[in-house]
Amino acid sequence: MPDPRRAIPRTDAVLAEPRIAKAAGVLGRDLVKSVVNGVQQAARAGEIAPADVVDAVLARLPASASSLRPMVNATGVVVHTNLGRAPLSAAALDALVAAGGATDVEFDLATGDRARRGRGALAALKAAVPDAGAVHVVNNNAAALLLCALALAPGREIVVSRGELVEIGDGFRIPDLLESAGARLREVGTTNRTSVRDYTAAIGPGTGFVLKVHPSNYQVTGFTSEAAIGELAGLGVPLVADIGSGLLAPHPLLPDEPDAASALRAGATVVTASGDKLLGGPQAGLLLGDAVVVERLQRHPAARALRVDKLTLAALEATLRGPEPPVRAALEASVATLRRRAEALVRALENADARVVGSVAAVGGGGAPGVELPSAAVSLPARYAAALRTGDPAVAGRVVKDRCLLDLRTVRPEEDAKLLEAVRRCG
Ligand SMILES: *Cc1c(COP(=O)(O)O)cnc(C)c1O
Repeated sequence: MPDPRRAIPRTDAVLAEPRIAKAAGVLGRDLVKSVVNGVQQAARAGEIAPADVVDAVLARLPASASSLRPMVNATGVVVHTNLGRAPLSAAALDALVAAGGATDVEFDLATGDRARRGRGALAALKAAVPDAGAVHVVNNNAAALLLCALALAPGREIVVSRGELVEIGDGFRIPDLLESAGARLREVGTTNRTSVRDYTAAIGPGTGFVLKVHPSNYQVTGFTSEAAIGELAGLGVPLVADIGSGLLAPHPLLPDEPDAASALRAGATVVTASGDKLLGGPQAGLLLGDAVVVERLQRHPAARALRVDKLTLAALEATLRGPEPPVRAALEASVATLRRRAEALVRALENADARVVGSVAAVGGGGAPGVELPSAAVSLPARYAAALRTGDPAVAGRVVKDRCLLDLRTVRPEEDAKLLEAVRRCG
């Protein structure tokens, strides 16, 4: 009897198959070859018929050369750090693709001379916050704070309330970040109460700046008090306000969330914020404020190490100038609309164990703790959670007791059809 393994097509032959050769042009030969070898092994083990090798390879090829998989965020957490925070708007995605090749990020097309890097994104940010004398963009908010410490407080003290010594996440703490820049922290007040007098008593010739940090991922309630930005402005030293979430102007649904315009109007010298939280853009650190101070930050040698790439600049400008980004749409969607979408999904599923339930979504991502966003979800048996996570696209829901909830607030309306298919495949 002939050995059936003899019939398994050789690697070169599989790679030469036109559809597979085409995939190798997109994914890279090594990646495709490793899939071919995996399928050959399965064929040798008798799991795949030799005649099916090419089809099996095509079925197993990833969609892109990056291992990052697209996901549907049905967790109900609008800004989900583990899912990459803000999903970009279509306008921002288009801008990314356009800037992916050679682009005029630092080039004046009219004169052919070098131009200011990222001037379009910076102008858009400045236009969005007219109260800022100047703006700058760095890698993230942590980088923005680092740059402030490096440029404004080397070997000096940063005065900060004990109630605002924040751990951002994954073990990273703002106090450690600032000290790593060679500044010393001067902690004032107590965990629950800090007054303006606590700050004034600590300010002296060794002060670099006063730092006000928005407690964006926790709440201190009860017998509490803090000094407002307005009270800390005009103490004779710069006031840096880390507002966290990147709201540029007040948002009616988030009355307790600080925003850049109000902080600047209240007297902050520099405001720092993230680009990929409530602003809904790419990961970035925004610096807005006094023109002279911002210029000092821009000119510091470390600014070069913290600068953003052209893709970030492209996506940020499109987020600022383009239509409302998905984060804002998710935040502002009415419950009635979400419920209608959940009902349509449940009807289309024709699954006796799928039903619409009320849900409570959250802002997340270190923003607006305690804010509850009423929402609607498709409720499925808990076993769906793992199957959905490992499907394509991967879907992340939320398991509550023995149910898997797919919260519609964080699912973009144009993703409903994909979500439906993903659930059906797990059925
Ligand atoms: C999220 C957050 C940070 C960290 O911002 P990144 O952009 O992740 O570096 C710093 N401070 C506050 C108050 C935050 O909410």
